[in-house]
Amino acid sequence: HRLTAILAEGLRQLHHAVPTASFFDTITVHTGGHTQDIHAAARSQSVNLRLIDDGSVGVALDETSTRADVEALWSIFAVGKPLPAFAALEASAEEKIPAALARSSAYLTHPVFNSHHSETQMLRYLRALADKDLALDRSMIPLGSCTMKLNATTEMIPVTWPEFGSLHPFAPLNQAQGYQQLVADLEQMLCVCTGYDAVSLQPNAGSQGEYAGLLAIRAYHQSCGEGQRNICLIPSSAHGTNPATAHMAGMQVVVVQCDEQGNVNVADLRAKADQHAKDLAALMITYPSTHGVFEEAIGEICEIVHAHGGQVYIDGANMNAMVGLCAPGTFGGDVSHLNLHKTFCIPHGGGGPGVGPIGVKAHLAPFLPGHRMLENGIAPVSAAPWGSASILPITWAYITLMGAQGLRQASQVAILNANYIMHRLAPHYPVLYSGSDGLVAHEGIIDLRPLKDKTGITVEDVAKRLIDYGFHAPTMSFPVAGTLMIEPTESESKQELDRFCDAMIAIREEIRAVENGDIKAEQTALRHAPHTSQDLTDEWSRVYSREQAVFPLKSLRQDKYWPPVGRIDNVYGDRNLVCSCPPMSDYE
Ligand SMILES: *Cc1c(COP(=O)(O)O)cnc(C)c1O
Repeated sequence: HRLTAILAEGLRQLHHAVPTASFFDTITVHTGGHTQDIHAAARSQSVNLRLIDDGSVGVALDETSTRADVEALWSIFAVGKPLPAFAALEASAEEKIPAALARSSAYLTHPVFNSHHSETQMLRYLRALADKDLALDRSMIPLGSCTMKLNATTEMIPVTWPEFGSLHPFAPLNQAQGYQQLVADLEQMLCVCTGYDAVSLQPNAGSQGEYAGLLAIRAYHQSCGEGQRNICLIPSSAHGTNPATAHMAGMQVVVVQCDEQGNVNVADLRAKADQHAKDLAALMITYPSTHGVFEEAIGEICEIVHAHGGQVYIDGANMNAMVGLCAPGTFGGDVSHLNLHKTFCIPHGGGGPGVGPIGVKAHLAPFLPGHRMLENGIAPVSAAPWGSASILPITWAYITLMGAQGLRQASQVAILNANYIMHRLAPHYPVLYSGSDGLVAHEGIIDLRPLKDKTGITVEDVAKRLIDYGFHAPTMSFPVAGTLMIEPTESESKQELDRFCDAMIAIREEIRAVENGDIKAEQTALRHAPHTSQDLTDEWSRVYSREQAVFPLKSLRQDKYWPPVGRIDNVYGDRNLVCSCPPMSDYE
């Protein structure tokens, strides 16, 4: 801020008006008719100024800027005039942050911000946090619908390269030719994977891709003089983002029923498409479905929607079951989003950043999200033309390393792994949905509701108990309450799948003890899970042994994850903000 104030004052001395009265680090400068000369002088010194209009440019400094940068900027704007004296301006330049906005309270007062002063301390702090975490570097994360596959180091390293990480999203395109190539390659690769004709990498999440996709559908209908089409059919099995997106895109949601096998009820779909034929805008459908099955009627479903003038949005979050095997653009989709942070190896969790590109058939290509830096398209859905561009090298590297054959094999192994788990668990827990061949797709749902009815042991008890066995829980109660949805991905070996199944089967035996009346649900290790090392050293009055608590399988003695906290009340925690600041007594 200080340097920006000095810069602005010097520019005024050089007779350039600075209309920005209050600022932090960014100002607008009038060029006095010298716009072209100023841009040319800037380029020759490797400085990028923001293009605002014919009479003004934008300048922003940051915490890495120096006195030399300020003087270089003055010389660019001076057009031959003598430069202002830095030292004099440094003494006199005034703050330009309005007093009313200046912070008066203390900030970052928590000790964590003031405790780690050396690199060694910081390293150990980060390690201590990592030790508490139950992440993919310890065990599989079988979160159904999330596709928690390996984010390979080779794919991740280039993100740290300044050539990818330090480029401004609005840098002139002739300075970003490598990025242009990366983007073009990736769009092409994703077209091949999906069977679509064009791809936009702009959306930053799957949900944002859904939004961009529905905007494209809406704009397409308008271009055909059918702007009244605003009904969006969505099966009851859909991910919650689908109806939310349809709402945001100004469409009206009509729910289509599913049958007992979890498939779309085609008769109901046909009836609702008939009923809304004049106003049908789209169907949003996930394939393979959120129930973890390859919906056999998918081709027919797409045909029905097309026959009624609607467009088909295929939610591609489950693309990990399809890459190299089948493609949404070839079996009836008009537009799909992909989740590069699921299928294509970008890390996720903690809110991103993600990439949710959309692929479209040619007729929708003119309605992809645009940007003032792009040649065509409708309104943008992100501030930057290529969204989270800096993480695209991960997906580029993944696809390039795998090749067509490798990608197909990954899909096959992902499906095989899910079916292996379902097959091993089926004698112990009912598998909720499967296709007519008895198989699931890349994920499957086991039903714990009958056991709960019999024993009172809940899906949450099982999820928490899995932590004692060293596993992150599968997805709980989505898409069906009281169930667990398991997705192992192709990243897991047979040993790891067996380790997980062994844990689930051992847990089933623990539940059986309640079934048999040997122990009450409230007394079980299941209900008290997870068990911390502190639990063991506190006085022990449980009806099960300490060994049963923390080493229920022998193999755990070799490699044990110790949870840092015991059972918490999830619902209470979600509904009540709990301050984790140190208590007042710590200050006394
Ligand atoms: C993950 C997911 C989404 C949403 O994607 P985000 O990137 O989390 O916004 C949409 N649909 C399905 C089926 C998903 O699994």
